[in-house]
Amino acid sequence: MDALIFIFIFCSVAFGFFLGRRTNSFQPPQSNWSSAHNRYIEGLKYLLDEQPDHAIDALVSELDISQQTLEMYFSLGALWRKKGEMERAIRVHHALLESPTLTALQRQQAQLELALDYTHSGVLDRGEVLLKELAGSAHPTIQQSAGRELVLLFQEEREWEKAIVAVDELCRKADIPDLPFWRHVQAHYCCELAEHVLGSPDWNEPDVLSTGILDPANNAQPWIAQAEHQAPAHARVLFMKTLLALGRKDLAGARHILRTIKLEGQHSMLLVPLMLSVSGQYPGDVWDDLLSFYRDSRNIAVLPFLSDLVYRQYGEAKAFDFLVLELRENQNYRAIASLLVAMDTSSVQYSKLRPALIELMPFQFSCHQCGFQGRQFYWCCPSCKAWR
Ligand SMILES: [Zn+2]
Repeated sequence: MDALIFIFIFCSVAFGFFLGRRTNSFQPPQSNWSSAHNRYIEGLKYLLDEQPDHAIDALVSELDISQQTLEMYFSLGALWRKKGEMERAIRVHHALLESPTLTALQRQQAQLELALDYTHSGVLDRGEVLLKELAGSAHPTIQQSAGRELVLLFQEEREWEKAIVAVDELCRKADIPDLPFWRHVQAHYCCELAEHVLGSPDWNEPDVLSTGILDPANNAQPWIAQAEHQAPAHARVLFMKTLLALGRKDLAGARHILRTIKLEGQHSMLLVPLMLSVSGQYPGDVWDDLLSFYRDSRNIAVLPFLSDLVYRQYGEAKAFDFLVLELRENQNYRAIASLLVAMDTSSVQYSKLRPALIELMPFQFSCHQCGFQGRQFYWCCPSCKAWR
């Protein structure tokens, strides 16, 4: 597909080039014209030899930039960046910036493209300098694009405090169409800082409390308050508030917050370890909460946690019976129930069975943007970096 796009661009650039030659009142010296014509012929030869990259290289070895060919050069630079050909992308955008034919806006567009080349190449400091300059542009489109890219650059560097400031600056700009999105992302940045203070709790651990340092005198509270201010119903903020309440040994408060969290989407499974954390004080209530959560959400992945509770309270035989009963209710898992019934459960320990059961459960993370799936939960998709 890329090859076809390159062929299209080659033909477009060549067409624009010749059109420019025909329509320009100023005619270049004949020797230059011959040289350009030779480069075109050379590019055509590469194209016929199915080497579209070399064909484009030949054509743009001495860029002939005019208003007719400009858009094609922008497209070509962006395509090369997408392909990871950063050196070529930077060369095109540098050449565009050196051209005297560009308007002020076109020059800023070329600078923005060059900044993206740098950030995608890992030359983040150069990209940052350019983006900061463009974020102050008088042109709203350039200003907003640079502001967004600056936020993403700080996110990539995990410079959360700088990213929070950059979002504030972006949101101060007029007519930001996706303001709620950026406030949602900003709340995540605040939560990243809060989690860092708390000792980076592992949300995928059943005993999430054991993974974080829940010191009630910690400095996480201001970050959580800021996150709540930016995005009041943010699921991660509510989870963080639950953790803080548990750190203060305020189990009633933690349980109250848990009940305000909507049981929806992929966040819902994160409730389970927190529900279990309050079970010391409210064992009966936790069973009721977990069971009603399981019934309401129809989330089969909750089942092993329920069978854990049965196992702890009533032992192996009752845990097996409970699993068989519940698995039979789900047509996708009836065969597993039959398998359990056929097994000599007296010879199988529940602790050995549980990991196998977890493997049979559906993926707990599925990115709606890029389709990435995983058994662990992520607040930020590891593949496309979209936030939950
Ligand atoms: Zn993704």
